[in-house]
Amino acid sequence: MNASNASRFPAVLLAPYLLDGTGSAVRDAALWLDGGRIAWVGRAAELPLQARAATALELPGCTLLPGLIDVHVHLVASAGPELASDVPRTEAERSLAAVANARRHLDAGVTTVRDLGAPGAEAIVVGRAVEAGTVEGPRVIAAGPAVTMTGGHIAYLGRVADGPEQLRAAVRANLGMGAGCIKVVATGGVLTRGLDPRRAAYTQAELDALVDEAHRLGLKVAAHAIGEGGVTVALRAGVDSVEHGMFLNDETIELFLATGARYSATFAPREQIMRGETVPRWTKERARPAAEAHVASFQAALKAGVRIVAGTDAGTPENPHGRVAHEVVSMVEAGLDVLAGVRAATAEAADLLDEPDRGVLRAGAVADVLAVAGDVTADVTALTRPTAVFQSGRRVR
Ligand SMILES: [Zn+2]
Repeated sequence: MNASNASRFPAVLLAPYLLDGTGSAVRDAALWLDGGRIAWVGRAAELPLQARAATALELPGCTLLPGLIDVHVHLVASAGPELASDVPRTEAERSLAAVANARRHLDAGVTTVRDLGAPGAEAIVVGRAVEAGTVEGPRVIAAGPAVTMTGGHIAYLGRVADGPEQLRAAVRANLGMGAGCIKVVATGGVLTRGLDPRRAAYTQAELDALVDEAHRLGLKVAAHAIGEGGVTVALRAGVDSVEHGMFLNDETIELFLATGARYSATFAPREQIMRGETVPRWTKERARPAAEAHVASFQAALKAGVRIVAGTDAGTPENPHGRVAHEVVSMVEAGLDVLAGVRAATAEAADLLDEPDRGVLRAGAVADVLAVAGDVTADVTALTRPTAVFQSGRRVR
């Protein structure tokens, strides 16, 4: 028997507040965990008799919620001042960084992450090790190398491909590596000199081919797209999520609504780049116009009813791993309802990641559970104060 089975006992968690991830709240709640799954959830007064044999854990003043999901991280990067030089040069060092960064997510109550770009299979391998129980970390759905054009953004976290045929081949190569999704770089980037972040990197025919190939093979597509030029092309191609989307207009918002694509606004990197003391001036200057447009774009998307998910772009300059709770706080400060904010980092994210047994507290779901100090609905910053973290029913913090 390995250690993870030894400490996986039936338990009943009792707390004054519970948010199930879909938008429902329960007062004076009980959550019964058994065999790595949730056996029952509801009001403590109605707890089934069979649960009385389980160990009870009282969490006074706490809110129970699903383990958080961060839909945009880079496990090989560790939040140094410049992303290009922060990503280690050897695969061995990158893999070690990914292991350490994975643990940071788990400590913060993040039990699932989507990794959106690494030079090779580093995050994929860490995800397999977590599944095998040899490394402590969140469940990882990894894109492998991001697909980017010649001269495009983050070539050092990706695979260069041009033209529809090469884009199809890149999808196949990533699938063969073990990728669980595809990341494509659809505009220039703030952290890379060259192409304007508002302009499309790929042509419509190129992105159409990539998305068609990915969907045909059962992989969802996340598009890095800062400005409306690339957001439009990406959404027309049918991507499943737009990452950053700092400049949106009426047309892009209509495309979000028409396609059902999710919007991962990633406030964290923008905030950290603008306030970070070690971030080079050229990066700040490149980021400034996008930073100025960002909140207005987000608010327009909210007003229209675009589906929001929480992603941090963790690993980018001064943006450490394990802070998706802070991303939710930023989105709430920008106008998102608190329960919708929680949903963006739980049920809505799980739906995007095709993880129907995660991101929700309901009977039968995987027992990935977070307890935080305080009433989240009254004070959203409570999300940033984890007191207990359970992964598949096992207490990991
Ligand atoms: Zn990223």
